[in-house]
Amino acid sequence: MPDSRVGNGYDIHRLVPGRPLVLGGVRIPFPKGVQGHSDGDPVAHAVVDALLGAAALGDIGKAFPDTDPAYANIDSKLLLAEASRAVADKGWSVRNVDVTVLLEAPRLAPHTHLMVAAIAQALGVDGSAVSVKAKTNEGLGEIGRGEAVACFATVLIAAASPTRTGDALG
Ligand code: MG
Repeated sequence: MPDSRVGNGYDIHRLVPGRPLVLGGVRIPFPKGVQGHSDGDPVAHAVVDALLGAAALGDIGKAFPDTDPAYANIDSKLLLAEASRAVADKGWSVRNVDVTVLLEAPRLAPHTHLMVAAIAQALGVDGSAVSVKAKTNEGLGEIGRGEAVACFATVLIAAASPTRTGDALG
């Protein structure tokens, strides 16, 4: 087994009135929110896909089908925790997560530290292993018009040392 592997994930959701804006497990006050079968959190979904991709465990659609009523309006932090458990079960531990959120408004800077903490807690890793960056789309396209929010995530996993597997599971 190789020592380490990398995975990437991407997700995009529509922004619509009457839904909560949940990003990286944090509810952010805003008149519009994310449309989705779950809570729609594109940050959590991108990280889940990056985790599953790194361990070659498929993708979020296969792991958590949006046709399954069990996942209706579910807190996507639970999907994050479940994906990290699946990765740990294969003998991997998460070394770091790097996230870029594309969103025209609101500004995420006041919330990124909370998003880091929520993602780290769901994954059972230290906050120093998680990075959340945010940027606008310079007014371009559906993201620039405030109709959507997208997220890219990269995850590095490494072979878990036997003494640390329990830590990673939290
Ligand atoms: Mg999604």
